[in-house]
Amino acid sequence: MKKALALDIGGTKIFAAVVNEKGEIEGEIQKYKTPKSLDEIKSTLKDIISKSENMVDIVTIATAGAVNNENSAITSSTGNLVEGYNTIEFGFLSKRKVFVENDANSAAWAEHAVGAAKSYSNSITVTLGTGVGSGIIIENKLLKGKSGAAGEMHFKMSNDQKRKCTCGAWDCWEIYASGNGLRLTGVDVTGKEDITTYDIMAGVEAGDATMKEVFDIWQRYIINGLVGLANIFDPDCIVLSGSMAEFVDTEFIQWEVNKQILTQPTKILHASAGNYAGMIGSALLGISKL
Ligand SMILES: [Zn+2]
Repeated sequence: MKKALALDIGGTKIFAAVVNEKGEIEGEIQKYKTPKSLDEIKSTLKDIISKSENMVDIVTIATAGAVNNENSAITSSTGNLVEGYNTIEFGFLSKRKVFVENDANSAAWAEHAVGAAKSYSNSITVTLGTGVGSGIIIENKLLKGKSGAAGEMHFKMSNDQKRKCTCGAWDCWEIYASGNGLRLTGVDVTGKEDITTYDIMAGVEAGDATMKEVFDIWQRYIINGLVGLANIFDPDCIVLSGSMAEFVDTEFIQWEVNKQILTQPTKILHASAGNYAGMIGSALLGISKL
C-alpha cells in the first residue's frame, strides 16, 4: 500500500503523520509550534521530513496560501505566516517527490474522498475558522483555475466599505462569515470593541438575547454566501468545516439556502473527515499523482 508523509502547515501549528492510500493515519501524529522565522520553519520541516521520508513514497504538504498547478510552490503569500514563506522551495526539502496543495483544498479533498461528501461528485467544503477557506470539487475533480488559486472566498457582500478584509479589499464574504466576522458583528451590535468570539458563543450558550442576535446575523451572512455558491456551482452538497462550523445549525442553513437558490436543492453538511483532514486530503491527492 502506498504511503505519504503528510504535513499540515498553519500559522500557529505544524502537524505531520504517515497517511496511507486509504486515507488512514498510521502511527503517531507529530505536533509542532510554527516557528516565527523563515529559517526556523525550513529547518523544522527538514527535521520532520528526514525522520520519516524513508518509510513513505511521497511527502505531501497542506499549507496556507494559494498553490500553483504544478503543486510545487505557493503563488500568493498569506497573512498569518512569516514573511518570505511563499519563497520556500518545497521540492528541496526531501529526496522523495514533494506534493504541495492549499490546506482548504486538501481538507475539501478529504471530505470528498473519505468524509461527509464521500457519496457525491460535486461538493464544496467551506472552512470557517479565523478566516474562510474553501475547496471546490466538480465532477470528482478539484477546481484549480488557471493559476491554482480557485476557490478563494473573496467576493463583496456590499458597497459599504465597513470591514477591511485580509486580502486588502472591503467587505468580502470572508470578513463577514469567518470567526473574525462573528467578532466584528459582535462589535457592531454591542459597541464593545474588545468583545471576543468566545464571549459571543458563551453568551449564546447562556441564553443571552443580544449574543443570540449577533450569532443569528452572522449565520445570515454565511447563508448569503452559500446561496451564491450553490447557484454558481450547483453542488450536491456544501460541507462546513473548521473551528467555527461546529456552532452553526446546518439544518436551518440548508432550509434557508434551498428557499433562495435557483438550482435544485443542495445539502448542507457538517464535516466528518476530522481535524486532520488537511493532511489526509493532501496525502490522497499526492498519492493519486504518483
Ligand atoms: Zn477579501
